[in-house]
Amino acid sequence: MSIAANISAIKKEIGNGGVKLIAVSKTKPLESIQEAYDAGQRVFGENMVQELVEKQEKLPEDIEWHLIGHLQTNKVKYIAGFISMIHSVDSLKLLQEINKQALKHNRVIDCLLQLEIADEDTKFGMDLSEAIELLRSEEFAELKNIRICGVMGIATLTDNPKVTAEEFYELKMFFQGLKDTFFRKDPAFKEISMGMSGDYKLAIDKGSTMIRLGSTIFGTRTAKSK
Ligand SMILES: *Cc1c(COP(=O)(O)O)cnc(C)c1O
Repeated sequence: MSIAANISAIKKEIGNGGVKLIAVSKTKPLESIQEAYDAGQRVFGENMVQELVEKQEKLPEDIEWHLIGHLQTNKVKYIAGFISMIHSVDSLKLLQEINKQALKHNRVIDCLLQLEIADEDTKFGMDLSEAIELLRSEEFAELKNIRICGVMGIATLTDNPKVTAEEFYELKMFFQGLKDTFFRKDPAFKEISMGMSGDYKLAIDKGSTMIRLGSTIFGTRTAKSK
């Protein structure tokens, strides 16, 4: 199927229930992104800063770019002027740098706290207690140029949907706990970014508000570029 047909099939499937589709275009050429854009897609996700910057410069300005991969503090400056949302905030230090660079551009950058839900500890992300510590800190209270909009998680790569379902449920519970404790009066804290090509239906079932789909839209990536 074409990229346009894939997008339209996914949109039909997820309906108008308020789940946002992020087209993960990492490793894909400009033409493929343009094709998705021409089909009406405006939200794209990338996981490497350099690749993201190169693509952003060449593609339409009204694209909403999301960074979904690990972000090093020394690279924040390259994306601070245009990024719509950073899904991968995993430390106070990183958040402070995002705030500093956002201030330089006189803007507020939307962020998600990446929480660890998978069993493998190779994955990035904070555990719940680290997130709580961050949100309680005086340093966090001083940051005026970032806005925390919710949480993000990546489930364990497994064929067992029971494990995936439990991890998504856990992220939803983490979200709810943080919401009740720190963001009760903040309507901006509403996003749960979970679900990829292999597990997005389950993720929506468990309360996802943002799904990040690469191969379902653009076809499989080569193993090397994963
Ligand atoms: C690559 C990637 C995706 C998309 O993966 P697919 O399985 O191709 O849908 C989603 N989220 C993150 C963080 C990724 O790195």
